[in-house]
Amino acid sequence: MVIVNRPRSRLSATPWGTSVERLLLRLYTYDLSITSASSPAAPTSKGRPVSNQLARDAHVSYIHIRHPIEGCLSNTATASSGAQGCSSASRSALSPAAPPTQPLTPQRQPTGRAEYTSTCQPKPLDRVLSAVLYSPRTQITGRRVLRHRGSQGRRKGKPPLGNPELDGKRLLQDLDTLARHGSSGSGALNRVAYSPADLEARCWVEDQMRDLGLQVTTDPAGNSICRYWGEAPGLSPIAVGSHTDTVLQGGRYDGALGVAAAMACVRALVHAGLRLRHPVEVLNFAAEEATMGGTLGSRAMAGLLEADQLDRPAWDGVPVAQHLEAAGLDPMRVSKARRDGGSLACFLELHIEQGGVLDKAGVPVGIVEGIVGIRRYSFAVQGLANHAGTTRMAERQDALVMAAPFILAVRDAAVAHNIVGTVGTLQVEPGFPSVIPGRVELGMETRGLDEASLDRAEKDLSQAATAIGGSFGVLSSKAPAHSDPLLVETLVCTCEEMGTPYRLMPSGAGHDAMCIAHIAPQAMLFVPSRGGISHSPEEYTEPEHCVMGARVLLEALLRIDSLLDPEG
Ligand SMILES: [Zn+2]
Repeated sequence: MVIVNRPRSRLSATPWGTSVERLLLRLYTYDLSITSASSPAAPTSKGRPVSNQLARDAHVSYIHIRHPIEGCLSNTATASSGAQGCSSASRSALSPAAPPTQPLTPQRQPTGRAEYTSTCQPKPLDRVLSAVLYSPRTQITGRRVLRHRGSQGRRKGKPPLGNPELDGKRLLQDLDTLARHGSSGSGALNRVAYSPADLEARCWVEDQMRDLGLQVTTDPAGNSICRYWGEAPGLSPIAVGSHTDTVLQGGRYDGALGVAAAMACVRALVHAGLRLRHPVEVLNFAAEEATMGGTLGSRAMAGLLEADQLDRPAWDGVPVAQHLEAAGLDPMRVSKARRDGGSLACFLELHIEQGGVLDKAGVPVGIVEGIVGIRRYSFAVQGLANHAGTTRMAERQDALVMAAPFILAVRDAAVAHNIVGTVGTLQVEPGFPSVIPGRVELGMETRGLDEASLDRAEKDLSQAATAIGGSFGVLSSKAPAHSDPLLVETLVCTCEEMGTPYRLMPSGAGHDAMCIAHIAPQAMLFVPSRGGISHSPEEYTEPEHCVMGARVLLEALLRIDSLLDPEG
């Protein structure tokens, strides 16, 4: 049983601490009372025992948590991890928060890590807490997780699903309309960032939002910000959206689906005459694709632009700044698109998976636990260039042969540490069939959600390079962007109550949400890409999956509106 009782406060990004500390802070911030129905001895927070059936299935280990940050925690939380498999109905039970089990004496820990003691096998705390948090046996009884209020006042119990109603037919029509902008006639889309076709599509989205009565602005990076005002004064907006630019010869779903779905959510609210407590912002980010270096608009919004970013060449060799000018934007003002941390209550993005996991598994919705971190490396090994005909095999110092074990080491490290690793470039000097390679340079990357795994793989690769006599260097490192645990939990609850099959998964590709994670809590939903294909005219997502993803997005939006910034 986890019992958490803490004065409620605003959701805020917490760029510090271990994942356990962050999770605890989230729990405390939300005044949640979470009861895992897995312990035979555990009463519910109303004092009644859990059902015998649930109790029989239980496997319990108690973990006592002491938080190291003085003043942040005044109670002891006791976690139990239980067996999986229980009806989603248990999630909807609402009960008042239970009192703390016993007071905690806060202790300052120089290591900054949470301590734990266990009566059973010690387990990593975050695993245990995650298991409790995500277990279908867990009752989330946060006061507003399962309720929302609209203009008709607060509803009792869970919100009526599908009300306000998302217009799936209109969503698909909007996708068709977007696909006409930049269409080459062969099915491929060329809506490269800041091109006339891209600007046309952006204008069309803005016009649609204006027609619904939203306040539309374009920021100095070209991001469209369409605001539907909320009821409660002073609350930061909940943002939903994605991007409408494409790669060269791209498809019609990458990005466009997320924008069309965000439009559909707001349209449903407007047509239902429903204003949420928070403002809702439909964001259409500029230049997400790599044509301008990648996630340019969301980087600008999150204050992540690098000094020379606009001077770098775009896809066509022309500096990015010139593309901005051609689109009527002032490169000198792009950094003014920056928004402060806390200026958004949260960000939700629906996107096609761009991989084949959901399609292969036949699961219609993916809930993204985090966007992978990406580390890029260089490797070089020096041999001796010599005549390929006269140099005997035993006397060669063939740099390519020396590099071969390193390529295998990249694969082995990725497999060993449950990440992905790729050698993507190979340069052989001098590069003639008649000359033994004298020098080889490789470019590679690793991607993974767990920073410790990336660290271990990096260590393995460094050792492998040393063993070969090569040089190994880190070119760049992007940290993983973990989704906000409570947003993920809300998406899980939403899918379960809607009866929508889902899978928790990482995102192997970068997205705007990865940048926005620096200024706001974020989470993403995926829908399947047929055959895992994207960035191609062959890109396809079943219409029913597009609509299903948008419906989950709308329902989650309603719940999150009630969950964040609770009244009183
Ligand atoms: Zn995209």
